Amino acid sequence: MTDLQRLHEWLGSSGKQALQAVRCPRCKAAVARGWSAEVCAFLVLVDPVPLTPLGEFEALLAGLWTYTAWRVGGVRVDLRTANRRTHRLAHDVWPEHRCGHFHLHTTKSQISPSTHDGFDPDAPPPF
Ligand SMILES: [Zn+2]
Repeated sequence: MTDLQRLHEWLGSSGKQALQAVRCPRCKAAVARGWSAEVCAFLVLVDPVPLTPLGEFEALLAGLWTYTAWRVGGVRVDLRTANRRTHRLAHDVWPEHRCGHFHLHTTKSQISPSTHDGFDPDAPPPF
């Protein structure tokens, strides 16, 4: 099973706004693509890598957008604006994809699929 197939299974695929596992057209990395759930939605490519607060700070310094990711069947993302960065709740924070950018400060995903989906919630995410 390839990294793209593992990401596809991990993301799930229910709903039009759910993220889809795709390859980046430039670097061919397995990334997630979908609509940001903003009022004026726009198509985003994100690295499905849960960041720590330090990791989010590092991503912002690098000029990357960050997104709140949550699971409602599939996974959806919402742009983290300045006032939304003050709380993390039970969601992941994923960075915008930039070819070749490596994220040092990551953590365990809080939105892993449930055991009802046939997944081991303690298994590491496929990224
Ligand atoms: Zn890329």
